[in-house]
Order: sequence, then C-alpha cells, then structure tokens
Amino acid sequence: MKPLNAQTSRTMSRVRSTGTTPETRTGEALRAIGVKYRKHVRALPGTPDFANRTQGWAVLVHGCFWHRHGCRRTTTPVHNAEHWAAKFARNQARDARVEAALAARGLKVVTVWECETKDRAALEARLREELGSQGGRPA
Ligand SMILES: [Zn+2]
Repeated sequence: MKPLNAQTSRTMSRVRSTGTTPETRTGEALRAIGVKYRKHVRALPGTPDFANRTQGWAVLVHGCFWHRHGCRRTTTPVHNAEHWAAKFARNQARDARVEAALAARGLKVVTVWECETKDRAALEARLREELGSQGGRPA
C-alpha cells in the first residue's frame, strides 16, 4: 500500500471509529426520549436518516457545511468558488425537494443540524418537543 493511501485510510478509520457522528448522536437522543424509529428508510423520498411512518415523522440530519446551515461552521472554500457554489445550490435544491416530498406524504419533517447535536440535552429537548405529540411513548 502506498504511504498516502495508508495515511488516508488511517484518517478515515479514525473518523469512523469515534462513533460520535451527528447521526449517531441524533439516534442516541431519539432512543433516550423513548421514540422508536427506523434508520435510512429507503421507502421514503430522500432516504431519511430516521423515520417512523406509523407516527408520521422523518428526521433529517444535515451537515452544516454541505447543507449550508448558515452557522459559523458554514464556511465557503476560497478556491473553485463557482464549483462549490453550484454544488451547494444542488444540495439545497435537493433538500427542498426531499422535504416537500416527505411533507406531501403527510410526514412531519424535522431537520437536525450537525451543530445542534453537540448539546445532547438541548437536542433531546427539541426532539421531544417536535416528536412528543406524534403518538407518544410506544405501547
Ligand atoms: Zn450549524
């Protein structure tokens, strides 16, 4: 294996092995508030990160950079500005399409931003507020 690849591979595995991605944290928060869900629901538009069709909701976890949250993590690369602008525009257009398609199916759509997952208590409180009335605790 070439040194560069080995380094890249090590970096990638380190990123994965932390186990604290925004998606992981969101899943933990959903479990903590007693909400049942399926992950990566392919049967729904955009394959939502988390969804419960019976209770009628979908949760989308968005990276602040790629999905242009507007918070301070939403940096813009200086080089190839046009390329990035086009890419971000595509992402945002896709997000809007997915949200509209989910809403058209009668689902409540909750977008969780990467930066929101840093504060676990606040994340749980928000999810409880957003999803709490969607059927309550499972029987
Ligand atoms: Zn953000």
